[in-house]
Amino acid sequence: MKKTKNNFIEISIKVAEGNVLKNLGGPFGAVVVKNGKVIAAAGNSVTKKNDPTAHAEIEAIRKAAKKLKTFDLSSCEIYSSCKPCPMCLSAIYWANIKKIYYAANSKAAARAGFRDDFIYKEFAKPAEKRKIKEAQQNAPSKNNPFKLWKKSQQKVKY
Ligand SMILES: [Zn+2]
Repeated sequence: MKKTKNNFIEISIKVAEGNVLKNLGGPFGAVVVKNGKVIAAAGNSVTKKNDPTAHAEIEAIRKAAKKLKTFDLSSCEIYSSCKPCPMCLSAIYWANIKKIYYAANSKAAARAGFRDDFIYKEFAKPAEKRKIKEAQQNAPSKNNPFKLWKKSQQKVKY
């Protein structure tokens, strides 16, 4: 029987539950789907891997890209047990994933102690009002990598 959107969301939630029950990381799961088939499923493994970027969506994207042998997942959709955080949302854009489905929202994640909602609010502020300050260092060579890239005959565009 063909799987539905609800089936894929249920899989992402089951992965998230398993992650908590097996103490593998945060309560999040994600599934990358192509043509109605699961390509990759992954849970959050931040604490297990000591990797602050090892969110479920990022882990699922890495697995899917490896499996499909491409950095372009434009033929895929992602299902997540919770609304992707800003980092994962960016990763989804970089992967060209065409659609996002999620179950819980950022407010629910905040109630469980996660900062997704806080980071969304931070990004909506002008840079000078954010908690983490940023400053451009005006190095004379700052645009050299781009000049080299534009001239490169061997680059793989993405
Ligand atoms: Zn995330």
